[in-house]
Amino acid sequence: MDQVAEVRSKVDLISLIQEFLPLKKTGHNFKTNCPFHGEKTPSFVVSPERQIWHCFGCGKGGDAFTFLMEYERIEFPEALRILADKTGVKLVQQHYDPKATSKKEKFYALNRLAAEFYHYLLTKHTLGKPALAYVEEKRKVKTQTLSTFLLGYAPRGNALTTYLTKKKGYVVADLIEAGLSTKRLNGQVIDFFQDRLMFALFDHRDNIIGFSGRIMHDDEKTSKYINTKETLLYHKGMTFFGFNIAKESIKRHNQAILMEGEFDVISSFQEGITNTVAVKGTALTEDQVSLLSRFCQKVTLCFDTDAAGQEAMKRSLALLEKKGLTTSVIVIPQGKDADEAIKENPAEFKKAVKDDMNVYEYLIHQASGKYNTTTVEGKRQISNELLPLLSHIDNEIVKEHYLTQLAGVIGTSYESLIREIEKLRKQEVVRKPVVLTKVARLREDILEEYLVGLLVQAHSPKLILEKIADILTGYEWRMPAFQRILEEIVVYTKNHEIFDQATFLSVLPQELVSAFDTCYLLPLPSFTDEDKYSAEAVGVAKDLREQFVKAKVKSLSESIKQKEKQGLGDEVVLLQTELSSLLASLSGKV
Ligand code: ZN
Repeated sequence: MDQVAEVRSKVDLISLIQEFLPLKKTGHNFKTNCPFHGEKTPSFVVSPERQIWHCFGCGKGGDAFTFLMEYERIEFPEALRILADKTGVKLVQQHYDPKATSKKEKFYALNRLAAEFYHYLLTKHTLGKPALAYVEEKRKVKTQTLSTFLLGYAPRGNALTTYLTKKKGYVVADLIEAGLSTKRLNGQVIDFFQDRLMFALFDHRDNIIGFSGRIMHDDEKTSKYINTKETLLYHKGMTFFGFNIAKESIKRHNQAILMEGEFDVISSFQEGITNTVAVKGTALTEDQVSLLSRFCQKVTLCFDTDAAGQEAMKRSLALLEKKGLTTSVIVIPQGKDADEAIKENPAEFKKAVKDDMNVYEYLIHQASGKYNTTTVEGKRQISNELLPLLSHIDNEIVKEHYLTQLAGVIGTSYESLIREIEKLRKQEVVRKPVVLTKVARLREDILEEYLVGLLVQAHSPKLILEKIADILTGYEWRMPAFQRILEEIVVYTKNHEIFDQATFLSVLPQELVSAFDTCYLLPLPSFTDEDKYSAEAVGVAKDLREQFVKAKVKSLSESIKQKEKQGLGDEVVLLQTELSSLLASLSGKV
């Protein structure tokens, strides 16, 4: 057996997925909310017998390898390594073949070398002396912290490019594509980051995906921070600074504290607040939120006290709320950001962390301090600012709680706030662009899938088949795969009273397996007994037949009209006979 097959045969998909997601048993499958698209009712189904998963919401699916690759955003070689590790399969060297590993893997290695190079320059080399003085003296970063976060220094010129090409044997084209080097107009290749303090950006699996470089003299005219440009590995808004360090602590606390900048996180870390990450200036993205939601249920925002920070906070809220995360706010006691506040008075900052405020309470409190709560204009401004946010609260009880609180603050009634929210909702609907995310499926296609689903998930499909055979006589299937599976079941049940998927699959033609899997994993309603179950199948079959006959009647009537126009009397008579027998079957004689 080859090693991939060996790993596949040993891995248990249920326990693998359970490491990341809570699974609930329903029938012979397991269900949960899909981690790949936002949803609140589970359509992500895992089959222990088939060792496959499928999401009926977004259509993704596969086996243990594809799950891990999708979920951890990794390539096949890495997924293989992880699963081989879990199953105790020792991989032979060929799977580590550097030529076989992907470009992604190569870039991870390049970034790692670059980070170590920068770190060496900052901590050991004379070139890094001024930068070291800046972080240690001005920013009060401890020596140990420098290596924990792998801080570094990028000098002017092309030191990194030279090191990676001359000493490590990489080619310039790769360095440029990885975002480490850049070509000037005159053709000269230099390092991308010039004279900057370097922060390595890790993903949650400890791969370095890019860098953020900060200037050390705030009066310079160039931008304070620059990041790696978009590369194969680095996409803006996919991760957080410090996530690799904070990950375990976030899990332990079941809470993540989001700050704006690198130094906010580093200062917090040095004070023992270890579950903090930096969003890096911009508002949260959906990718970041779904990353967080895999590690904790509570997200606490600790953004700068300036207008931009407050604005970023509001925009982040809706996203967090949508994902069903609990949110709160740390009110920074003094200074404009967490870093300043911590240096000012660490004890007071820690107290603020402990006394984090519910975010809506905080917003109501903020707005009522900013506007006059007694004038008509003030009331209008407060409600304009807060209603769009409060209206997005998902839980109705929580929503009512804060709307009542707001009504109290501005001296109005709960009902008028509800009416205002209704108006907002109408505006939102109008503004939404009409984008069809999925091609709508015909009702018949869905019914066919459902019927076959009922059959392959039944304890004994034989009994159901007996009841629906007549109904489906003459029915022309829209989906040939489902028709063929049904025919296979008919054959199978001649010798088997009880349906066993493994035996059935051993004779099912390979090209039908994926259609079978879809039906086998399809979430079914729960039925109280076998009779209700087969009654459902009968109902679906009748429904399909009725749709089919109606469509036939329609097309027959049209041809009759045509033939009449053409004066083909004999053919008209024939068609009319066919039509009346169809109509008879519609009126119940099926
Ligand atoms: Zn999905």
